[in-house]
Amino acid sequence: MNAPEPLPIDLPSFDNSFAALPEAFYTRLAPLPLGNPRVVAVSEVVAAMLGLPPGFVDSPQFAEIFTGNRLLPGSEPLAAVYSGHQFGVWAGQLGDGRAHLLGGLRNDTGHWEIQLKGAGRTPYSRGADGRAVLRSSIREFLCSEAMAGLGVPTTRALCIIGTDQPVRREEIETAAVVTRVAPGFVRFGSFEHWASRHRHGELQQLADYVIDTFRPACRTQINPYEALLRDVSRRTGELMAQWMAVGFMHGVMNTDNMSILGLTLDYGPFGFMEAFDAGHICNHSDHQGRYSYQNQPHVGQWNLYRLADAFLPLLKRPALARAAVDETYGDAFALRFAGLMRAKLGLRASLPDDETFIDETFAFLQMQRPDYTLFFRRLCRLSATNAPDRATDNAWRDLFIDRAAGDAWLANWRARQARTPWPDAERQAAMLAANPKFVLRNWLAESAIRQAKTGDFSEVRRLLACLRRPYDEQPEFEAYAALPPDWANGLAVSCSS
Ligand code: AMP
Ligand code: MG
Repeated sequence: MNAPEPLPIDLPSFDNSFAALPEAFYTRLAPLPLGNPRVVAVSEVVAAMLGLPPGFVDSPQFAEIFTGNRLLPGSEPLAAVYSGHQFGVWAGQLGDGRAHLLGGLRNDTGHWEIQLKGAGRTPYSRGADGRAVLRSSIREFLCSEAMAGLGVPTTRALCIIGTDQPVRREEIETAAVVTRVAPGFVRFGSFEHWASRHRHGELQQLADYVIDTFRPACRTQINPYEALLRDVSRRTGELMAQWMAVGFMHGVMNTDNMSILGLTLDYGPFGFMEAFDAGHICNHSDHQGRYSYQNQPHVGQWNLYRLADAFLPLLKRPALARAAVDETYGDAFALRFAGLMRAKLGLRASLPDDETFIDETFAFLQMQRPDYTLFFRRLCRLSATNAPDRATDNAWRDLFIDRAAGDAWLANWRARQARTPWPDAERQAAMLAANPKFVLRNWLAESAIRQAKTGDFSEVRRLLACLRRPYDEQPEFEAYAALPPDWANGLAVSCSS
């Protein structure tokens, strides 16, 4: 075989912190090559974050590297082991069945681990093919970057590489590889793995790794492991609040999909709320509705209890584990959620009865089922001080079949505004920065996927450009802010990926 062409540029050097853990934590193995790779889309923001030199993404080597066909110098590819609870049931060992961690880069924007998803079988594939299809790869790529644009903590995505390799799902599709980027990919299930095997040495090593690498402040506490558990609990509470406020549904909140760093992790059958229904289930395979919109805060806590159980051997008194969750999670969620909802509703200052107003607003949304994103975005434009003005209110009123109910809620909102007055122009600017115009609606992802399957990736790239700045008006993307078209009624998203 000829030596590969030298890379055209100097790449940042690797600093592989996870690979420095003992071999019990992973299996070292190279990605399995895929023929004829081509770049579907690249997030330039993530490329810059990694310090990839300009022009590199256009080089022929880029697609080879991020398919896994060629390794970057210094990378030490591996698949990590973890376990987890899936749909409330202990599932035993899982692990990176189709993910290869290439290693970590450290630069002035932080420490970034780079992971290929869909680059072939690993010892944790459990009979599956180790691949990811173009469809689900586009969804993961776009949603990672959309969530970052929305300001929600998330793993990032550098690129999607498409190939011709057939992959069997419900039908034959083609394989793709997504490059994910995050400070770390450690999961709740990574801890459950060692606790379930009574391997307390590895459990402690993993906790020490997370503390020393990501949460050094915990080391200064009396009990660093308790401090870590509290940190995870608080961040998870805040993450759930952010998901709920933006109308995001994860779809598969198994403990193996929960990030120890409080990031949104593993995008599968996710969804964004459209016609509001608190009971909405975005994952077609979730028959019980365990991961419905309204259950997410509860499931976040349930998952934390599983993590707390795994932490028991690290804590001097078992009671500390539950207390670490109970004393942080609920408050972190409630405080963050109230703050986000006040911002969404344009409330200048908090009043003691705001919680009631927020509850009434959700009850109203449940009765009337307007589009969740448009309800808040159009509300931004209304005057809070004027007497009801039918003409300017109409874009918002059009969201309701029952106009009288809408008008009644609006009158309450204006009455609430009057108690903490805020000049319209200022309030509107603040509300526009808190209420996105664009979210990754299923029908948007679906139309980009349909086009991409024909070899035209332009819609994926346009959507990426739009979703990076979801709070900006971007009139050129007006169509992406629209209600789902008729053809999208009944679009179902399953776990198949
Ligand atoms: P997920 O539901 O995508 O979070 O995956 C749950 C577990 O199944 C993880 O251990 C994945 O690595 C594994 N898995 C999912 N799909 C595949 C696949 N196509 N090949 C190998 N492993 C997979
Ligand atoms: Mg997963």
